Amino acid sequence: VNKTLSHPVIHRGLFVDGAFPEPSATLKIYNPFDGQLVGTVAEASPPELDRIVESSVNGFRTWSRMPAHARAQILMAAADALEARAEDVAQTITAELGKPIRDSRLESSRSPKVLRRAAEEAKRFHGDIVQMDATPGAENRFGFTMRVPLGPIACITPFNFPMSAVLHKIAPALAAGNSAIVKPASATPLTALLIAEVMHQAGLPDGVLNVATGSGETVGGPLVRDPRVRMVAFTGSAAVGMHLQADAGFRRVQLELGSNGAMIVHDDADLAAAATIAVRQGFNSAGQVCIAIQRVYVQRRVYDEVVERVVTATNKLKVGDPWDEATDVGPLVSVAAAARTQSWVDEAAAGGAQVLTGGTSDGAVYAPTVIVGASPDMKVVCREIFAPVIVVESYDKFDQALDAANRSDYGLQAGVFTRDLYLAFRAAQRLDVGAVMVNDGPRFRVDYMPYGGMKMSGIGREGVRYAMDEMSDVKTIVINEVFSSD
Ligand code: NAP
Repeated sequence: VNKTLSHPVIHRGLFVDGAFPEPSATLKIYNPFDGQLVGTVAEASPPELDRIVESSVNGFRTWSRMPAHARAQILMAAADALEARAEDVAQTITAELGKPIRDSRLESSRSPKVLRRAAEEAKRFHGDIVQMDATPGAENRFGFTMRVPLGPIACITPFNFPMSAVLHKIAPALAAGNSAIVKPASATPLTALLIAEVMHQAGLPDGVLNVATGSGETVGGPLVRDPRVRMVAFTGSAAVGMHLQADAGFRRVQLELGSNGAMIVHDDADLAAAATIAVRQGFNSAGQVCIAIQRVYVQRRVYDEVVERVVTATNKLKVGDPWDEATDVGPLVSVAAAARTQSWVDEAAAGGAQVLTGGTSDGAVYAPTVIVGASPDMKVVCREIFAPVIVVESYDKFDQALDAANRSDYGLQAGVFTRDLYLAFRAAQRLDVGAVMVNDGPRFRVDYMPYGGMKMSGIGREGVRYAMDEMSDVKTIVINEVFSSD
């Protein structure tokens, strides 16, 4: 049964001041699996964008002056409301992105927990006491800091996690007392609009959360350059992130970018567990995950066994229709993404690499692919593939695996499988990444751990409280106790 056809076509305007005004121009959204029209959204014009930013300035004034307990209560109510609508959100994600419905349900049931955490953190978001008399000359002074919000924050989000990526921006932004303007990916704006509508119905005041749909160039760019926007919180590709950082000037940026995630499997590891993780974290969401496994480095003594286990497990994956409850790997975001993947795999094969399974596409669906014998300069190794393709290579000495994993422009997260505590710590110290997972792959994440990358994987950290620190300023107050010093 093709569920996309029975999913009603959704028409939405921009979300501004808690309503959907009639848009002046529209964008069409298609399901990448079957090409069916899923909905239309607004393509914000310059005056419409101006209205959105103005609304966020006003929303900030209201929200930042509310007591923390009131903000926390509204965020909690919004989390409840999103949980109650989890199935609607999951269906919307699958309709517009083609993510397998099982994975969409995981995303829609897990994401509201980010808001819950933000509501809790909103009540303990305070500064420090500064010991002023630590050096001569500052006696009789009392110093403390306060955490103050910044203002409207532009939250520019990618297509691959239409709910989670949005909540990881707006939940900390709002918990810290800012207002937020979401510019969702053009491929997946319907989920962001649904989230905003549900949160508004749960009690979020007008203007605190607005959604500006439209293309990156015509809506995202002008939003970033608008001086009323006080911070740019971006998740997406390194190329766009670099561009936005230049546009942001002196304003703060948080950049969560891509990677070509590595996992090391040493010869003392639980090989069955490592192979299972390689397949799950390499191919889940069709590999369209910033912390997906792309490169697997295996100690030579156990290499053949790991490769065999990985290929066998890959061949058991169910690939195709995202509405089928049994599907493990659905389509990529577009037919163009599948064609780009094909060209990188073909280039590797032409250069001498072996494609052990997969290596083919059907429309936007790319078959889960395992490659061996690739050289470090091939795109399938050194660029972010963002598709269900992994390369498996062997090494002799553990340090060679660390060097190979570090031979990347990126550095988001890495995994290392070993039972040797010494090697685990060596990996933790030497891998140039934002997080190292021991006996797991790079894909592991919980919402409240610090999360972000080194090198071209980004600047700053998500993870509710860590993001709140970045989405606020420290204000210092020093009281001169001159009148009480006699
Ligand atoms: P993308 O092409 O960089 O787009 C991300 C967002 O930026 C979209 O909303 C896009 O709008 C917008 N945009 C594009 N050009 C812009 C411009 N000139 N000015 C302002 N905004 C602009 O990324 P994507 O293809 O959607 O997502 C995949 C990438 O995201 C991968 O590299 C992945 O690793 C990364 N990612 C990172 C994380 C993380 O936490 N580190 C998480 C998820 C994804 P349009 O859609 O309209 O172009």
